[in-house]
Amino acid sequence: MDARNYLSNNINVNMVKNSPSKILIILNEGIEKAGQDGIKRLNFLVEMDKQTKNYLPNSSTMENLIEILGFETKKWIGKEIHLEIKMMRGREAVLGKHINDKDKEPKAGTFGKDIPVPNICAKCDAKITDMEKEYSIKKWHKTLCRKCQTMM
Ligand SMILES: [Zn+2]
Repeated sequence: MDARNYLSNNINVNMVKNSPSKILIILNEGIEKAGQDGIKRLNFLVEMDKQTKNYLPNSSTMENLIEILGFETKKWIGKEIHLEIKMMRGREAVLGKHINDKDKEPKAGTFGKDIPVPNICAKCDAKITDMEKEYSIKKWHKTLCRKCQTMM
């Protein structure tokens, strides 16, 4: 028998150290698996360096991903995760971080990049230019014409 066929397919510290890219792509929404410690974890099918692997993110990684990608793992499919080795509780562990800022869930009250914002003053309905809009959103977090901006 070829022992190489029985190597663990789970992403671990050594695998990440040896990976040229240290980037994985999430391929499914995760399958719940109970570990030897009885703690339920999500087991993701992922692609790293053009090979399919299993990935069981630790709780620090899950916190990172939830913060950036939201809590619905269906929406994580296709996202790129950057892996690094960190000392955690005295031992090396794999920590995953999402790398594309453009995938960030828009926070309530701010403008999502995918949502078109009309070039209209939120206060007096006057038409504004792209530049005025950009400046106003940056400064006031809403679209205001020059006149209304001076009254802020
Ligand atoms: Zn106005």
